Amino acid sequence: MRSADAVVIGGGIAGVSMAATLAGHGLQVVLCEREPTLAFHTTGRSAAQYLKNYGNDVVRRLTLASAAFFSSAGATPLWAPRPFLRVGRADHAASLRADAEAARALAPTTEYVDGDGARAIVPALRADIEGALYEPDSMELDVAAIHQTYVTRLRSADGSIVTSSPVVSLTRHRNWTVGLGDGAVIEAPIVVNAAGAWGDHVAELAGVAPVPLHPCRRTVAIATVPPPWTSSSWPLIAFENGQGGMDGYCKPEGDGLLVSPADETPSEPCDARPEEIDVARALDALDEWTTLGARHVRTTWAGLRTFAADRSPVAGYAPDADGFFWMVGQGGYGIQMAPGLAVAAAALAVDGALPTAMVDAGIRVADLEPGRAGLGGPLSPDH
Ligand SMILES: Cc1cc2nc3c(=O)[nH]c(=O)nc-3n(C[C@H](O)[C@H](O)[C@H](O)COP(=O)(O)OP(=O)(O)OC[C@H]3O[C@@H](n4cnc5c(N)ncnc54)[C@H](O)[C@@H]3O)c2cc1C
Repeated sequence: MRSADAVVIGGGIAGVSMAATLAGHGLQVVLCEREPTLAFHTTGRSAAQYLKNYGNDVVRRLTLASAAFFSSAGATPLWAPRPFLRVGRADHAASLRADAEAARALAPTTEYVDGDGARAIVPALRADIEGALYEPDSMELDVAAIHQTYVTRLRSADGSIVTSSPVVSLTRHRNWTVGLGDGAVIEAPIVVNAAGAWGDHVAELAGVAPVPLHPCRRTVAIATVPPPWTSSSWPLIAFENGQGGMDGYCKPEGDGLLVSPADETPSEPCDARPEEIDVARALDALDEWTTLGARHVRTTWAGLRTFAADRSPVAGYAPDADGFFWMVGQGGYGIQMAPGLAVAAAALAVDGALPTAMVDAGIRVADLEPGRAGLGGPLSPDH
């Protein structure tokens, strides 16, 4: 039997960021990933964007708290400029203007631009687009480099990573005994559940009550756009659906265009695969909002965005099991808020309190803790 201070379950961005940050607190950490490679599931399938104006207030504050890491932690840059433009038609213009006004409290550079202003930024937008929320300093994230930065930090703090190692049993006497698929066993006082869509399954292994979590599939396609399209500097463009959510979005990706129908289809935890109908919907949305005329799809993928009912992440010790720490519910924002969330969660795991800087940034334990009110209800609407 091997022993550690903490076993982290899951090698996506939640697991590696938490493991590295716990190791930075001086804990001996072992990270267990079921797949042969890390970041195989949702983390390797994201749209890689950092948006200040996305998600609820808790998500936005954690996103802002992550900026310093992205701008300074890597040996190479971890992000690059990619503005954000959320466009709408006549019946969306008033709400976009109000959203832009409200957004300035946390993201002061946000502005409202009218239809001509939006077309000056993206000439291919259709003529009936009436207005847009514009976030000029949104960024594109290098997810592989961010993930690797945490892996390097974990290893250099003497942490270890075991792949092809599903956690198959969790029992607690004085410490947790973590059983792996190959029969190996690790003993530790702290277990961190960073298993993404499988978070409730891991809890079940430990006899811990579920959050419950809502894994939802989202689809992405890389489309080829016919000439004269050239602009790799265009923003990520989101198409407003009138209820504060999106009809779809697109952004340049290499010499193609990444498109998504912004689908949110409930799913069991699984290796998510794209459905043809969702790829077709992405191209329809692109046609409806732009004159780009993309037809050919080069590649497609899908991933599971996993939410708690209130769409805030869940970070904290389970109220019903000593030493079982939840680190789940990263939804559609798990990369952009990973550094801030890892700092908050590791401090909660080690000290039982948030660092002063987090409290000053408006992040509250009550917003993150498992067992908070409202988690048993349906998934709240997207915004
Ligand atoms: C299409 C799409 C677009 C997105 N766009 C963005 C974006 O632009 N910006 C952003 O910030 N976020 C985005 N996201 C969301 C982001 O990708 C997720 O929030 C984040 O990757 C979740 O990370 P995770 O570590 O919780 O989950 P995962 O990456 O899924 O990691 C969980 C890991 O746990 C492992 N595991 C499960 N059970 C066990 C077990 N029993 N034993 C061992 N290991 C186990 C799994 O194999 C998996 O590797 C997007 C997601 C999708 C799908």
